[in-house]
Amino acid sequence: MIFDLEHLKKQLDEEERYTDMNGILMKSAFIGTVFNLLPSGKFYTPWANSNVSEEEAEKDDDWREDAENELDKIDAFITPGEGDPCDLFVTRLVTLEDLMKEAKEACDWRGHKMMDWKVEESEAFALCARCGASVHVTTNPPPNGIDISGSAVAGGCADAKTS
Ligand SMILES: [Zn+2]
Repeated sequence: MIFDLEHLKKQLDEEERYTDMNGILMKSAFIGTVFNLLPSGKFYTPWANSNVSEEEAEKDDDWREDAENELDKIDAFITPGEGDPCDLFVTRLVTLEDLMKEAKEACDWRGHKMMDWKVEESEAFALCARCGASVHVTTNPPPNGIDISGSAVAGGCADAKTS
């Protein structure tokens, strides 16, 4: 095993979500650099690889294949750093469950008593049983749109103080 998948899963859960250039919600966790993770410990590209022997490159390929197979089990994959391609990240898509969990926590914190979610493909919707405030989450927000929205995450529960 290359990775501690349980630990990695937790690490990813705790990361902030972001939108990639295609508008897809992701979470990424830094796992190290090519220098300390890859067998060769070298950085190279398919078009500039004179610093690495065929044998080293083969071992690196095997490592990547093993790594991808392991990460498959938690629906994650390896991505190079955007700032520095020597940095390696493990990335996974943000799920509707992620958003529902986060939204629920925000609603609870504001004193709402949310009823069960109504889930529809990539979206979910819930209402507060006390004040009727709503929350909406979507894994497919419009450009510049938001993934968690609604009066229940914007303000406190109107009836919270009296009940
Ligand atoms: Zn409420």
